[in-house]
Amino acid sequence: MFPGCHRVPGWCDAHHVVPWTRGGATDLDNLVLVCRRHHVLLHEGRWRLHRDPDGTWTTDLPARAGSLPGPEPP
Ligand SMILES: [Zn+2]
Repeated sequence: MFPGCHRVPGWCDAHHVVPWTRGGATDLDNLVLVCRRHHVLLHEGRWRLHRDPDGTWTTDLPARAGSLPGPEPP
């Protein structure tokens, strides 16, 4: 669900939107599929992923756009 990333679901990890270490549940309402590369970036805190009220996923760009890896080409 990382915008611009086109990895197929079978190559993705389930990411906790609210981390389980902070009480986030392991259920579909709190999980999103992201590829390994973007999963690591989310856990490193360099990117943030948000679900908008309409269900669309968006990201906050890193502070120094261009210096960090972004979405991979399809
Ligand atoms: Zn990805």
